[in-house]
Amino acid sequence: TGLSGPTRDWLSHRVATTPDQRALIHAPTGDSWTFRELDSLVTETAGQLAALGVKAGDHLGVILDPGIDYVRLIYAAGRLGVTLVPMSERLTPDEVARNLELADVTVLVCGESTESTAVEATVDVPVVSVDEPRWEGVINLSSIAPKSIEPAQWDLSQTMLLLFTSGTTGTPKAVRVTMGNILANAMASSFRLGLTPGDRWLVTLSLHHMGGIGPILRSPLYGTTIVLREGFDAGGAADDIGKYDVTGVSVVPTMLKRMLDSRGTLSDSLRVVLLGGAPASDELIERCRNYSVPVYPTYGMTETASQIATATPREAFSSLGTVGRPLYFVDLDIVDENGDSIEPGSAGEIVVSGLTVSPGYYANPDATADAFTDAGLRTGDIGYRDEDGLLYVLNRKDDRIITGGENVDPGEVVDVLRQYPPIDDAVVLGIPDQEWGERVSALVVLSDPEMSLDRSALDAFCRERLAGFKIPRLVEPTDELPRTVSGTIDRAAVRELLTDARPVTEAEPEWTG
Ligand code: ATP
Ligand code: MG
Repeated sequence: TGLSGPTRDWLSHRVATTPDQRALIHAPTGDSWTFRELDSLVTETAGQLAALGVKAGDHLGVILDPGIDYVRLIYAAGRLGVTLVPMSERLTPDEVARNLELADVTVLVCGESTESTAVEATVDVPVVSVDEPRWEGVINLSSIAPKSIEPAQWDLSQTMLLLFTSGTTGTPKAVRVTMGNILANAMASSFRLGLTPGDRWLVTLSLHHMGGIGPILRSPLYGTTIVLREGFDAGGAADDIGKYDVTGVSVVPTMLKRMLDSRGTLSDSLRVVLLGGAPASDELIERCRNYSVPVYPTYGMTETASQIATATPREAFSSLGTVGRPLYFVDLDIVDENGDSIEPGSAGEIVVSGLTVSPGYYANPDATADAFTDAGLRTGDIGYRDEDGLLYVLNRKDDRIITGGENVDPGEVVDVLRQYPPIDDAVVLGIPDQEWGERVSALVVLSDPEMSLDRSALDAFCRERLAGFKIPRLVEPTDELPRTVSGTIDRAAVRELLTDARPVTEAEPEWTG
């Protein structure tokens, strides 16, 4: 059970406190709006939706490119007491249709570039466009005369967003994110990152994930300014930080790497670079240290309204690989297969509870019961805490290798391989093996591609640092690790490469486990 109690949308509270504060800057044009001006845009959008019959309790689907219209819709949903269901603008009509059904969407909003997808995906859900429609039957939002409305009453326990997970471990699930979850996360985040009245947060992540929509929802609570980009390009995002005196930005590791590659360093206006979504390499954190980039590595998930744990730059620089300590309101435990807590230094599943944890997946009692247990939310992620209480995330539970009945977390093996100087980067996974069930196998990138890998030296290096059963039996060099379009490791492709590779250890591995 999370926060509850009556409230109304936070923008309507904000206009009553600091109406003339700058709310939003549109990065491509430099146009800006105060909270009062933004509020009148939102009143108009909410009034138009109300005139179309959209009412409290409805599920408003959105497939739209990032832009001012998207921001208006986000706040208009709050004004009307409507649950927002943002979806990626890159989905196919079939994927959208599936999501509409999963989330019981009652109205779908699109724009010029997503209109045909919206039309193809819908059967009996009305489609509204923020641009001039090209298809018959699609409603032109700007042609609707707005109805006058009062801000809806919310309860903090109500679902503000239905957000789809990324679908890394299966088909995406629709997570219920309550207003209370977002409020608790916003407070806890500001306790960790600090908050100053002049803060300007650059939004360049997709708005259908918490990392993108979160800062927009938090801005009226904090009274700080959003600088909105229409998508991501590395050089452009880096330049906007300097141009608009941006103090904070949320990025995933590939984005930060590309921004540093393209501009060397980032503007010193920055106070916080919140880095999450995937593990950050030690090399990236070291670059931040060398170039004075104030990086806050964070670990989070949709089911917890984003951040679970966040490291300060000091922690990040002195304890490479950490995501720091849990945020305020978050209770975090590391448990073994039986759900019993394990001591610092040993890896297990990360379980979290507290005010930021969602009440569950929408209309999916089975998946909800599996993950949301009495002991807390089972994240499906494997990690450990060191003696100081700093958290390290190793890999997903699904990626665990079971060899000869022993559990091996690939993340731990990757850490050791990366410490071996001739190796720059590595992926570790289990390849099916008749004798051991699975065999620990590694695909590695060498720092000098011309050199050949001395496998017995590597074996000796690993033996000093890992139990015998964790040592990779197959190590294959490659020029580059296969990656997906979103920049994460393409584990299926790695698996294929390693399966095709000839085992290098001719003799049967000696069993030391
Ligand atoms: P699905 O739940 O559908 O499989 P997903 O878990 O990838 O997809 P998200 O909620 O977007 O969907 O992502 C959260 C996950 O991202 C976490 O559970 C974790 O596995 C991973 N993650 C986030 N931050 C980090 C980090 N700093 N280090 C390692 N992994 C991270
Ligand atoms: Mg997940």
